[in-house]
Amino acid sequence: MTSTPKHDLESLNRRLLMERSVPGRVGYTLPPLDVPEQEGPPAEMLRDDLPMPEVSEGEIVRYFSQMSQANFSIDHNFYPLGSCTMKYNPKLDDEMASMPGMSEVHPRQQEAGVQGALKLMYQLQGYLAEMTGMAGASLAPMAGAEGELAGMLMTRAYHLANGDTGRKKVLIPDSAHGTNPASAAMAGFDVVPIPSDEEGNTDLAALQAAVGDDLAGFMLTQPSTLGLFDTNILEVMRVVRGAGGIVYGDGANLNALIGLVKLGDLGFDVVHSNLHKTFTQPHGGGGPGAGPVIAGERLKPFLPAPVVEMSRGPDGTERYTLGAPPQSIGKMGAFHGNFGALVRAYSYIRTLGDEGIRSVSRDAIINANYILSQLRGYYDLPYDRHCMHEVVFSARNLKRAHGVSALDVAKRLIDYGVHPPTMYFPLIVEEALMIEPTETESKETLDYFIDVMKTIAQEAAESPDLLHDAPHDTPNTRLDEAAAARRPNLRWRP
Ligand SMILES: *Cc1c(COP(=O)(O)O)cnc(C)c1O
Repeated sequence: MTSTPKHDLESLNRRLLMERSVPGRVGYTLPPLDVPEQEGPPAEMLRDDLPMPEVSEGEIVRYFSQMSQANFSIDHNFYPLGSCTMKYNPKLDDEMASMPGMSEVHPRQQEAGVQGALKLMYQLQGYLAEMTGMAGASLAPMAGAEGELAGMLMTRAYHLANGDTGRKKVLIPDSAHGTNPASAAMAGFDVVPIPSDEEGNTDLAALQAAVGDDLAGFMLTQPSTLGLFDTNILEVMRVVRGAGGIVYGDGANLNALIGLVKLGDLGFDVVHSNLHKTFTQPHGGGGPGAGPVIAGERLKPFLPAPVVEMSRGPDGTERYTLGAPPQSIGKMGAFHGNFGALVRAYSYIRTLGDEGIRSVSRDAIINANYILSQLRGYYDLPYDRHCMHEVVFSARNLKRAHGVSALDVAKRLIDYGVHPPTMYFPLIVEEALMIEPTETESKETLDYFIDVMKTIAQEAAESPDLLHDAPHDTPNTRLDEAAAARRPNLRWRP
């Protein structure tokens, strides 16, 4: 028997683009010039010391294909990144957004020429208002954080319009996403944290003590980032509204609610929703999102511009126009928001329909509770009650017994082909592992994950160093995270 000699295909494939460069090699063929030659930019604006790779087209295709395999995506495997919602994004929605009428529409086109695009936006505003129990929506904000800022600016404008100049305080639970206090502070408010009680609900005594006539509002995530439905919600509404405050809902993640519970029915005044989390839009690495802000009657007049309005001509034909609400806080960006993300969300909602939307939340909740029930006893459960679309465990039991942290568990998961869950958030849970399975995962995948998590708990007891050094099977092993943040190496240098 002959053995195959060992060739190193892996390092050949892993070469960076500059390492593939060979002087004189080109990746294009251009036809002879048959139009007048144009002058290039002035010489002083040109650099000749810029190293450019000289590679063939095939080499470039291989390079990017290899690169795409070096990263992790939802199209590879399970991605239970709590709060961030990495659900499967139907390819149909991408296809809709790529249609020339959608992808090539220009924001400066005349309204008469883009009636279809405006109608899509108008209907999406309506769907979002319907699903959240609100009166109107603006699709302008381009991320969840920008939607929050819009909602906070609306809150300020509302109080000022009432002549209420002393309302400076915004209350925010200690479990909140970090963007909440940042948005409130950017809008000029003083932020006061409100603790959670031992059940994970808003601490009512602390809330009662914090409200007064300087209260502007309460920014609440329901269900909370602990993955729990705040069962004190009606009492919270009574206290905050009784003191004249606005109740802001962080609806970044509506995966436990859509089709089941409307935040407006609970008493919320204004909400933002991340279309890239709840309504599909490939995201990650900071990629494009949309964070529409949706308001009840009190704050609707203050929505950011533009909002799409519909009127009827004499013959009854619909006409869509871009307008501004009467007391609008103004624009959040140059144009109308991230249109591609809006198209994907529209397509997602229309394809699922009423019953489909309902099943999103139901299945997300069932999947999270299945994981909760199967891993209880292996990992600590700081709030041991039914969860909503995500479940927060703590690795503190492994830390105390074996010196294995949430980070070690997360890194070891990579060896098993699973993306780490969100770690060390919410901040009030020690060694937090926040798992959001989403509704699109099969029972087989959930069972695989559960099995892996149990195996890792066992490895922690038997060979903790296996976890300390993980991941072992990736192109890069354990990184120095401090150096990566402080001295990022972003550029190839010879
Ligand atoms: C993701 C998230 C945000 C922020 O949304 P971005 O689009 O990342 O700005 C706010 N609140 C919660 C609860 C989130 O999960």
